[in-house]
Amino acid sequence: MIEHRIKEVLEHIWTAGKGRGMAEMEFISEQLRTEFTNKIFEEMNRGGLVNLDERKVKLTHAGGEKAELITRRHRLAERLIYDVLNIRSDKFETNTCQFECFLPDDVISAICTLLGHPRECPHGKAIPMGKCCKKARKDIKALIAPLSELRQGDVGRVVYTTIKDQDSLDMISGIGILHGIELKVHQKTPTFVLQIGESQIALDGDMVSGIYVRCKN
Ligand SMILES: [Zn+2]
Ligand SMILES: [Zn+2]
Repeated sequence: MIEHRIKEVLEHIWTAGKGRGMAEMEFISEQLRTEFTNKIFEEMNRGGLVNLDERKVKLTHAGGEKAELITRRHRLAERLIYDVLNIRSDKFETNTCQFECFLPDDVISAICTLLGHPRECPHGKAIPMGKCCKKARKDIKALIAPLSELRQGDVGRVVYTTIKDQDSLDMISGIGILHGIELKVHQKTPTFVLQIGESQIALDGDMVSGIYVRCKN
């Protein structure tokens, strides 16, 4: 049980510190809604995961690595569950760990690659980059990729978007870019143009990098 709490705390510190690994203890306690947070901090300190000063908790090098891994696993699992398996259940918010904790590193990399190395979880929180993400920038053609990585003539089906701006979301759904829709890259330069059915649609850069599709060979 405490081991599970520690994982949760590590993720909260990583998120609060935007990857730099420092947070106000009070802030983390509020996030956790438990009265035992101090005990957890002390336990983590004994385990060499964090250093504590009066009000702040700071990840050690080992703690930082662990926090990054846990955060990455959790958020990739969420993307898989929400976007690919299409499961929207409240139960998963608390239960994801039971599933993701059993996934070894190479499976995590495979999931990350399958999903096109997403940068954010479904809640809009950052997913720490893994080795696979850095390598993918060069050579991997993912099964699911942002439109920006497709070549002219490629065909794909929309799986999810990372676009947060409501106007842009309304705009893309208005022109028919919806979950499951098939589209083709008509041209990439000077403007990105998509073909959906009989119509051709120009898109700007933010949208091109925020719409993820499952590629067809
Ligand atoms: Zn999330
Ligand atoms: Zn990756």
